[in-house]
Amino acid sequence: MNRKSDETARSTLDAAAQSSGDGSFGSRRICYVNFASHLLNAYNPNMSHPGLPYRWSDDDWFRFIDMIAWFGFNVFEFWLEPRLFCREAVDSEIGREFARQMSAVTEHAHRRGVKIELLAALTTVGDVWHTHCPRIPDEWREVLWLWDRWTRLLPGVDIIGIFPGDPGGCSRNGCTHETYIDGSAEVAALARRNIPSVEIELGTWGPPFFAWGIIKGPDGWQGEFVPRFQGTAWAFDKPRADAAMTCLLKRLPAFPPGTSVAINLGFNGDGNPTGEQDARPWAREIAKTNRIYTWDYSLTEGENAIYPHYRFERLFARRREERATAPYSGGICYTMTPLLNQLSLYESAVSFANPDGGHVAIAGEFFAKLFGDGGRPLARLLPLMEVVPDWGHYAKLDLSRSAFHAKMNETAELLRALDGRETAAIPFQPSLADYRRELLFFAELFADLSAPAPDYDALRARYWQRVYAIYDHLPRHVDPRPHAATDMLVRFFAEQYRG
Ligand SMILES: [Zn+2]
Repeated sequence: MNRKSDETARSTLDAAAQSSGDGSFGSRRICYVNFASHLLNAYNPNMSHPGLPYRWSDDDWFRFIDMIAWFGFNVFEFWLEPRLFCREAVDSEIGREFARQMSAVTEHAHRRGVKIELLAALTTVGDVWHTHCPRIPDEWREVLWLWDRWTRLLPGVDIIGIFPGDPGGCSRNGCTHETYIDGSAEVAALARRNIPSVEIELGTWGPPFFAWGIIKGPDGWQGEFVPRFQGTAWAFDKPRADAAMTCLLKRLPAFPPGTSVAINLGFNGDGNPTGEQDARPWAREIAKTNRIYTWDYSLTEGENAIYPHYRFERLFARRREERATAPYSGGICYTMTPLLNQLSLYESAVSFANPDGGHVAIAGEFFAKLFGDGGRPLARLLPLMEVVPDWGHYAKLDLSRSAFHAKMNETAELLRALDGRETAAIPFQPSLADYRRELLFFAELFADLSAPAPDYDALRARYWQRVYAIYDHLPRHVDPRPHAATDMLVRFFAEQYRG
């Protein structure tokens, strides 16, 4: 192909790659399901442990795609998590089945007008979460081999998201943010060779570029995941942040045409543009040449306590802040509980289309669509379930424990009364009857947790059995957060929420 026709082909492909969103504010709405192996639970697909619970059939996946398309999403994003991003997985039944099922999901999604985004950390490999170093030739060769294999195994993918880490990010052998940017450019070119139409999205997550050049490790550290050092990956330093973003701006033209950048309003875990961590000037600067998307992760549910979430005051406020700041063309809604927090998905999709929307009215319409008008009062009751302060949720519930207890009983009553009222024609995953039963499980659990003298051990067991039982079948993960999350939920009712 001569140079001119090559350029013509590329611009055609670029136009096709960007059809999911016209570049206007919020036009690309990405539903990001994080099903990584440290976040498994009854409401998340188990993609990496055949023979254990919570596997999804192809039909489960198709219904899920139908549902998010109905909500208004036009991209589905998944993390090719480290357990899959390794040679052992590629060459095993786990990897083959993952590639088969995700290819089937991709075909179905395309029929529904939904694009597929594969997200992976640049160099985090294997279920021990080892960070390979780009400056060790054998390790970098392995990383490129993995990117090559996976982009060949999943040729239908529309967008490749390259992510600095969390976990991951290297500071060994002189690696810095520049190593990440240069390595990403190389992977972007590789991906584009294997999938000529693919669009690249480069992530800036962290302070920025999580861990690169700053994460610390123990003596003799060889890149293994060490939980007690993860906090060092967040160390913010204004001169470093400026240097990193200046470097990114300089290097962006080396990325394939159409490359977009995921950048939050602030260089911290909450994306808050506070003080020196204000990322807004950089977002505006990048947006002059490349599309930008928000990757504000904690808006909807964080990564800890699992229950029906309701954080929409902050969600809509953030959307309006983004609209006022820079030409954000959309971004993610993250979930690790796609079978439980469908309301969060719906509100997120709407928040991009209508940042001025009223979240209570939107929730009321949502439940009226699902259960008829009798479902509307859920919009007043479900916000009360967002009771545990946690990552991304800082508003304090102004309700006494006894009043909360009464409201949870009222919620349970209402959910029981909605039995049989489910609307038939709604594309929903799981079924509306199952969804209603799950909400009821939590209303009853929260009512019992806030009763005058609960048996906390028994309630802990009830929650664990319903939500996290899969971990009874697995060896302890390098990041055992399900245990900590369960303890946190019970401790909240046992020790903190006494009034
Ligand atoms: Zn390194």
